Formats: sequence, structure tokens, C-alpha cells
Amino acid sequence: MATIGFIGLGNMGAPMAANLLKAGHLVNGFDIAEGRAEALVAKGGRAAATAAEAAAAGDMVITMLPAGPEVRSVYLGDGGVLAHARRGALLIDCSTIDVETARAVARAAGDARFDMLDAPVSGGVIGAETASLTFMVGGGVEGFDRGRPVLAAMGRTIVHAGPAGNGQAAKICNNMILGVSMIAVCEAFSLAERLGLEAQTLFDISAKSSGQCWALTSYCPVPGPVPASPANRGYAPGFTAAMMLKDLRLAQQAAGASAAPTPLGAAAANLFQLFVDEGTGGFDFSAIYRFIRKPEVKI
Ligand code: NAD
Repeated sequence: MATIGFIGLGNMGAPMAANLLKAGHLVNGFDIAEGRAEALVAKGGRAAATAAEAAAAGDMVITMLPAGPEVRSVYLGDGGVLAHARRGALLIDCSTIDVETARAVARAAGDARFDMLDAPVSGGVIGAETASLTFMVGGGVEGFDRGRPVLAAMGRTIVHAGPAGNGQAAKICNNMILGVSMIAVCEAFSLAERLGLEAQTLFDISAKSSGQCWALTSYCPVPGPVPASPANRGYAPGFTAAMMLKDLRLAQQAAGASAAPTPLGAAAANLFQLFVDEGTGGFDFSAIYRFIRKPEVKI
């Protein structure tokens, strides 16, 4: 069993840390928000007073933070992980952040003689609670082999995507496919409605035709055809529009930096920005259907 410092006990981090405890690991948790480390103590963990204390306590350090700037400050600052982690500790960042930051922090970790993995997840809060997350992992093979059994306590699918930063690359490429395909499905249902074609009829046909995709058959944005989709519960998330916008922006940042042409990714980011600007960022991302089908909105 490992002794793990866990930094960032929010919506995702708290249930992930709880699953590590259930699997028998020792977890020392830290979060800047009051009460979060104490909530971990109630589940059998320990509370660290600082990130440095959490980092120093483990033979592994896991972080689950909002974005790149927090990851830089938690790893690179004076009171940070690299300055305080035990010699030989494995460092795993599970946050979704930009590829450039992931590679820069991994380089700094390497310079300080630590193995580091970027291991962003898919599966959301429910996946975190039920230990069924998918981990997309970037970093060296040795670190991956060491980290895998611990990640397996929090997830079901653990894929090595290549060297440092490739976990983040996989995450933003996947979510760019999802953002673009969700918009395409929404546009098709909106057009069908105006042409007098029933949503259920389009669903039945496209689910068995070349328009078939996950956004249609597993997560249909129109109420009715897929009972479990957020469209049937007032678009309660699921995966929020704000999170989708964050990931589409990260994809655009990476596309700009690598001169990759992603015109549909750019259009999807712009459309989600307009949608979220309406104060709708807390709804499920499939609620963009309501925005697209509004007759007064020109896209
Ligand atoms: P969250 O805001 O609920 O949690 C982040 C936590 O980090 C908060 O508790 C915050 O107080 C803490 N934090 C911030 N700065 C800190 C610091 N300097 N030191 C210590 N703690 C600090 O966010 P979340 O939903 O748990 O998401 C975490 C990451 O996972 C994000 O990168 C997000 O994009 C990614 N993600 C989220 C989901 C989801 O459905 N929520 C799904 C996949 C990936």
C-alpha cells in the first residue's frame, strides 16, 4: 500500500482520494479551501496544513487542481511539491491543463530527479465516485508502471498515451471531437424540426446510419430518445458547458502553438463561448441545443 499526498480535494479530488482510502492506501490531503481536508479525515485520511506537508508525507503525490496556473504554483513555488516531496516520490497530476504547462512542470520535475505523469481523466464526478474513471497518461514507462496500480483504485481504464504532455494532448483532442460532434447533432435536430421531421424519427434513422456518434446515441441533446441523457432532466450536468468551453479553449491554445488547422474546433469554442456568456455555464454542455434551435439566434 502506498502513502499518498493528495492536493486538491474538490468535486473530483475528494471522491478520488476517498477511493484511495477504500483501497487501503494512506492519504494525506490538502486543499486551500477550508473544510475539505477535514472531510477527508472523516473518511479515514489525514489532513495536511500545507501543500508542502502533503507532498513531504508520501511516496506518491497526486494533484487534482483547476487549471495550469494552480498546477505551476503548487509544483514550482517555494512551498511547492518539487521543493518538498520525498526523494524518489512519483508525482501524478490528474488536472486538465494546457499541454505546454504539463510539459514544463514535467521537465522541472525531471530536473529535480522526480518521475512525473500527467494523467487527466474522463468520466466526471460520477466516474470519480464509482472509481470508473478513464486515465490518459503521459510520461515515462517506468513511472507509468509504478503509477498504474494506484490509478486503478480510482479508475477502470488506464492508457499510456506516450511521453510527458501526451495525456493532456489525448484529453483535449478527444473533447474537441465531442464538442464539435455535439454541435453537429444539435444542428441536425434543429434543422429536422424546421423541416417537419420528428426528433425520434431522425434519431431512429441516424442511430443506424452514417451520422451515428456518441453525442447522438448515448447523450442525445433532445429530450426523449435517450432516457438517461441530461436533456431529460432539465440539462442538469453531467459535464458542464463551462468545462467543455475550458477544454475547447485548451485545444485552441495547443492548435495555435503547433500551427494545427482546427477550423471546426475554433467554431465550436466560439459557439460555446457565446452560449456560456448567457450565464448558462453550469448547465450540461448538451444544453447548447437550446441555444442553437432558438429562432432569433444567428450562428
Ligand atoms: P474543483 O474546483 O471542484 O476542485 C479543485 C480544487 O482545487 C478546489 O477544492 C480548490 O480549492 C483546490 N485548489 C485550488 N488551488 C489550490 C492550491 N493552490 N492548493 C491546493 N488546492 C487548491 O474542480 P474539479 O471539478 O474537481 O476539477 C478538477 C480538475 O479536473 C479540473 O482540471 C477539471 O477540468 C478536471 N475535470 C473535471 C471533471 C468534472 O466533471 N468536474 C471531469 C474531468 C476533468
